[in-house]
Order: sequence, then C-alpha cells, then structure tokens
Amino acid sequence: MYFISTRGNERVTGAEAVVQGLAKDGGLFVPEKFPSVSAEEMERMLAMDYPERAALVLSKYFDEYDKDELLSALKAAYAQFDDGDAAPLVKVENGMFMLELYHGPTCAFKDMALTVLPYLLRKGCDLLGIKETVLILVATSGDTGKAALEGFRDREGVKIMVVYPDDGVSKMQKLQMCTQDGENVNVVAVKGNFDDCQTTVKRIFHSEECKEELAKRNIRLSSANSINFGRLAPQIAYYFSAYLDLVSSEQIKMGDKVDFTVPTGNFGNILAAYYAKQMGLPVGRLVCASNRNNVLTDFLLRGVYDVSKRPFFKTMSPSMDILISSNLERLLFELSGRDAALTAERMESLVKTGKYSVRAEELKSIREQFYAGYASEDDTVDCVYEFFTEYGYPMDPHTGVAMFVAERYHESLEKETPPVTPAPMVVVSTASPYKFPQAVYYALTGNDVKDSFKGIKRINLLTAMKVPESLKEIRYKPIRFKTSVSADKIFEEVLKFVG
Ligand SMILES: *Cc1c(COP(=O)(O)O)cnc(C)c1O
Repeated sequence: MYFISTRGNERVTGAEAVVQGLAKDGGLFVPEKFPSVSAEEMERMLAMDYPERAALVLSKYFDEYDKDELLSALKAAYAQFDDGDAAPLVKVENGMFMLELYHGPTCAFKDMALTVLPYLLRKGCDLLGIKETVLILVATSGDTGKAALEGFRDREGVKIMVVYPDDGVSKMQKLQMCTQDGENVNVVAVKGNFDDCQTTVKRIFHSEECKEELAKRNIRLSSANSINFGRLAPQIAYYFSAYLDLVSSEQIKMGDKVDFTVPTGNFGNILAAYYAKQMGLPVGRLVCASNRNNVLTDFLLRGVYDVSKRPFFKTMSPSMDILISSNLERLLFELSGRDAALTAERMESLVKTGKYSVRAEELKSIREQFYAGYASEDDTVDCVYEFFTEYGYPMDPHTGVAMFVAERYHESLEKETPPVTPAPMVVVSTASPYKFPQAVYYALTGNDVKDSFKGIKRINLLTAMKVPESLKEIRYKPIRFKTSVSADKIFEEVLKFVG
C-alpha cells in the first residue's frame, strides 16, 4: 500500500508516511487508493473484539507491518482502557447512540490513536533502517499533548516535546501535561493561541535549517499531530466498530445507513469517518459540529473557507478552538477529484489571503455528504444540562456541542417536505466530563467551582459517574514543567531539550 501527497507527486510506503509525518512538498499523505472492507470481512468482524477489528482495518493500510505483531501492539494499547472495551457504544434514546472514546489513559479520544502511534512509528523506523533518535514535536490545543506524552513516554529511541497555548487550554489539561512523568519528555507553554503554536511547529518541520541543526545531533523530526496518517488510521477503526456493535445489538441490519455526528476542530476525527465511508462502511450523513469558532460550518455550507477577518474565541470546548483546520486538506483533495495542483493552490491561497473557495460541484458533493452546524456557549451549557436532566447522561462540553448540532440536524430533517425519517445517529463522545470539571459543573448546576478537584468531587456526587484514576492522582503530583515562551522561541527550546 502506497501513500501520495495531497500537493504533488511524492509516493511513499505506510512506514515512510508515519515516520515522515508530512510530505516534503508540505502536503499531507493520503492512501493512493482506499482499501475496501468486504461484506464477508464485515460479517467476520462481528465476532471480533476491538483490537482485532482495529487490526483488520489497520493492516489494510500498513501491509508491510507484520500482522500478528500489529495485533499484539493493538491489544497492548487498548488494554490500557477501562472496562475491557476501548470504544463502547451506549444507547441514550431510540435511534441515538453515544460512541464513548474517552476511556483511555488521558480521558480523551486522542488516546485511541496515540496509544498506537508509538508502535507504528518505532516499527516504521525499524522497517526503514532508521537509527537516529526520533523527536516528536507536537502542537496541542490540550488533549493531543497529554495523550502523546503518555503514549511516547520512556519509549526507546524517541523524545517528545509538546507546545501548548498558555491561556488556551483548560486547567485540568494544563495540569495533566505539566505533571507528566518520563525521562524523554518536555512541555512548553507558548504565549499565543493554538494556531500560533501549530503554524510555528509546521514551519520548523519545513525548515531545512532546523532539520540540519537536528541532524548534527543525530535527531530526526516527526509529528504526532493528526496530520500524521498514523493518527488517522486507528481512528477509522472505531467507526467500523460502532457500526458492527449496532448490527450485533440488532439496532440495525447489515447494510443500513448510519449517521455520525463528530465534534470537530482539526477535522481529523470526522475525516476518519469519511475514510471509513470510502472503505465501504454504510455511512449516511456526517454531521460536523463546531463551537463558536465556526469556520468549518461556514465552509461546509457556503464553500468558502475564510479566516481573514475572523476573531478567535476561547470557549469551554478548547480542543475545538481552531481556525486553521489542517486535515480539511485531505477532504479538499478528494472533492477536487484528487487534483494535487489545485489543492496546493488553495493551501497557498489560505496562507497568502486567509481564504479559498471550492467549485459549485464540489460544494454540491459536500452538501450531499455533510451537514454542518455550531453551538454557542449557551447552547452547549443548555444541551449538557438538558441531556443530564432528561437521560441522566453526563457529557463533556465537546460532546455537548456535538449533541446540540445532532439535534439541529434532526430538526432540519423534520422540516423538510415531506419530513425525512432520520437514520440511526451515533454521536461521538470525545472526552470524559471529568476532564472539564469547571465547565461541566457549571452546565449541570449554574454554579462556579474554581478548584478542578473540588469540581470533580461535586460532579461525582451529582452523577455517581466513576472518576478516572488518572485524573484523581494528578492532584498529588509535582509540577515538572513551567517554561513559557513566545512562538518564535520554540525552536530554541527544542535545541535546549535535545542538548
Ligand atoms: C481533539 C478533540 C476534538 C477535535 O477533534 P479533531 O480531530 O481535531 O477534529 C474534539 N473533542 C475533544 C475532546 C478533543 O480532544
């Protein structure tokens, strides 16, 4: 299986795509051709557990990796999740299901991929005969950073450095990162927002000068951001798994269409759903849910991506506070009929003018496959409150955004003439409510609580939901990382770290 760049002619293996992260021309790696999952394989997957299902999907992309070894790596990764199921599907009402992806070590869905990426990367280096130390440099809006640190800590031959926007993550996210264990880790706060972090990190990746500096130290760069195909691939698997769970619990018949609502920032998670569809999964509509930073809503409705005059809002769903949605490039590539020159042109236009637009037929295709909406802060609070009151189901604010938009989508179907009966809906739940205790406590009670751990305690009293051990123990851990710099100093920090 080969991968090609969205912007040019580069063609690499799966191992190379993972190790390199980004294509040399600045594009993202995409499968040369989407592998398909046959009807017979779908039937076989019904009886499989989560790691086995994931191994089947992943081995189609990473066919040069040993199958049994891949399965062992997946079993080890998902054994770190609570309750024996890495991606449980929970029914909340008729036709409405939650795909809970937050039962991993850091309580957000990023664990689904970042517990697996270290294997894909290390094995990829072995396959390619790479002996240098790999430096993982990550820009995070909160959840990726912690999940990557946890995934890569104390792994041989790897160092990891995470940069995050100083005022752009929740208190709990910051605490999780700054108390990180491990000998090969570094965490640095950046004065600015997530886009500043991501842009600088991308610049370092593209800079020959930076790469040379690192090469002198026998180090090569790689990324754990969702632009890395090794992040995307494990995410495709849970869409299959959710579908199969609906079939085995007799909620649907094999072949029926299912809609998915995904709370979206960098467009990675929802792109994985789109990829699952390209592989043959019977997906109906993909509902893209944004918070107030609703650049994607506007794009999917109007076909114009425009960040030129857009204010950046800090919200209670910080992992979606993103204006430059990196993975959208992969969708653009597909919509354009895999036109690399056009994709490159659009990305250049985004850098130069802050905007680009798509053609009428591309917009038509977007509208057929996607529905887009956004939730204000009040909408999110109301949705989390109402859902808990009505169904006793607590949600984190990111999931609240998704649920709000899923309900708007269903309303829009009712308003059509004649009204359309909705397909079963799976809402992707991306974080534990305990990861955002202030916001969730406020949503549930209308009261503020300053201290994160007091918030956790009170939510536990209200909901009786189990508190994850990994969040409880942070309270007693020392703060290890306190450095805060401006974005232009990130590379200096990298050099200090690698020595
Ligand atoms: C990262 C994240 C998102 C957004 O996912 P993308 O793949 O960037 O679209 C949503 N919710 C939570 C909790 C996250 O951590």
